[in-house]
Amino acid sequence: MSKEIKKYDNNKNNNKNLIYYKDSSGYESWKEYDKNNNCIHYKDSFGYEQWCRYDENKNLIYHKNSDGDEERYKYNENKNLIHYKDSNDYEVWYKWEDGERIRIAEKRPGYSEVIFQCPECGSNKLGSIENVLTTRVITSIREDGDHNYNSPETDNIEVIAYKCTNCGYQLKEDNGSAIVDCLKVYKWVEKNSSIPES
Ligand SMILES: [Zn+2]
Repeated sequence: MSKEIKKYDNNKNNNKNLIYYKDSSGYESWKEYDKNNNCIHYKDSFGYEQWCRYDENKNLIYHKNSDGDEERYKYNENKNLIHYKDSNDYEVWYKWEDGERIRIAEKRPGYSEVIFQCPECGSNKLGSIENVLTTRVITSIREDGDHNYNSPETDNIEVIAYKCTNCGYQLKEDNGSAIVDCLKVYKWVEKNSSIPES
């Protein structure tokens, strides 16, 4: 009758890491570690394998497995994640405020998304200032001048400005005119946001 087998390494810190495991069913796994005791290679008897790399702060910076998935991570000086990219060309950028993670941009094939960041105050809240033209059908007209209406029928929304809702900073084109086109908002934010290179 076979039983469980466990083998450990014996590294400098006397911190024993499991390097081999076999259970009673015959399943086996192997592990390798870096100098900070992070597992950097795993392999099992099912044929699954994965590789990891960690930085000096023990943060995962690279991951790859035998299914072909690959992931890369970047951190700021406070060890907080600021960029993620995988082998499907999915990418996301983060910034941190008061311990809170804020997504500032996202990219995947055929699709990109950016989050506004005010150059004056840093707020992420962009407001569209709109004129709404509403048509209401008058159903009856009273002697005293009051009218009875159906509910609003037509909304015609015209954006007259895009502004930071915190400080009022307004998005403008290079020639100084107000941006009122949603496509131009994307271009403006993409150009003016502080997305680091991937
Ligand atoms: Zn602002």
